[in-house]
Amino acid sequence: MTTEFPRVLIDRFRRRVDYVRLSVTDRCDFRCVYCMAEDMTFVPKKHVLTLEEIQEVASAFVELGVGKIRLTGGEPLVRNNILSLIEQLGQLPGLDELVITSNGSQLQRMAGSLRELGVKRINISLDSLQPRRFRHLTRYGNLDQVIAGIDAAIEARFERIRLNAVILKGRNEDEVLDLVNFALQRHIDIAFIEEMPLGLIDEHNRALSFCSSEELRQIIAREHLLAPLGDPQSQEGPARYFSIANGPTRIGFISPHSHNFCHLCNRVRVTAEGRLLLCLGNEHSADLRAVLRAPGYSRDKLKQAIVNAMAIKPERHHFDLDETPDIVRFMNTTGG
Ligand code: SAM
Ligand code: SF4
Repeated sequence: MTTEFPRVLIDRFRRRVDYVRLSVTDRCDFRCVYCMAEDMTFVPKKHVLTLEEIQEVASAFVELGVGKIRLTGGEPLVRNNILSLIEQLGQLPGLDELVITSNGSQLQRMAGSLRELGVKRINISLDSLQPRRFRHLTRYGNLDQVIAGIDAAIEARFERIRLNAVILKGRNEDEVLDLVNFALQRHIDIAFIEEMPLGLIDEHNRALSFCSSEELRQIIAREHLLAPLGDPQSQEGPARYFSIANGPTRIGFISPHSHNFCHLCNRVRVTAEGRLLLCLGNEHSADLRAVLRAPGYSRDKLKQAIVNAMAIKPERHHFDLDETPDIVRFMNTTGG
């Protein structure tokens, strides 16, 4: 017997959840200083969801009315056979938007296939245009390779490409205008993200290196006229966007500290281990892997677990850079 589920997920604060970020791996070929510790322990492979399990989770969410899935990680494009998963997801009836966040390292060879398989939009991280600095911030990254990946994505004609930059005081804040100009030249968007206290790091002091979106906006405004684009309700997610120089490039600011956007939250995350995280800044979660691997598994049981989890989605996060983080999981584990 199958259960009838409404095609809509609503939490107890009456927010509709229609967007899921799926982390397909916690592994990565970079070790960005704000995202990971240098010496990381990754999840044992047997604990990571198989591609079939990820597909099952995605199908359950779509049947519950989720229209947008973002693949992330870790670096999603280093997961073995990721293209076969993307091909399956690209054909899911009811899924309007399949998008991906990547560090760009594999895009030179993969951008064309991603586009062909139905990925509509892509976010690519880029924190510096100086090769040595880029290497320091990512610990292993090669800037030329990433820029070639960005250009391959432009060539592949995604509907939208957005660069993501995390700016740290004293490290790369002097490159904000260069990064904006890089995006302008290529007619792509760029978003500046405030660093979040996810995971314990000792490479820098997150409170001391914090750069608020407002500081960055003022730096950009010295050279460019920024015009706000619409109200946040009509925009995608937490980024507040501005147009610039009447061109197609949009400048976004994602400001979890200086501009709380929790009341608009429409998303949940699934970690590579199959933990359904209801909030980036809280530990409330449901173990979907346990459901997937239990005897007598059925899609309805998975859907019921997801519906039940809506009752524990927290109202908001309480990030505080001056406190020892309550959230010990790193961003790569979280599925940023
Ligand atoms: N590896 C891919 C990438 O770098 O784009 C996808 C995963 S990564 C965790 C997703 C985004 O989270 C990246 O844009 C990265 O800059 C951002 N990020 C990682 N750690 C962060 C932190 N502690 N605070 C804010 N943003 C962070
Ligand atoms: Fe890897 Fe992305 Fe984290 Fe950098 S931000 S370490 S590229 S997962």
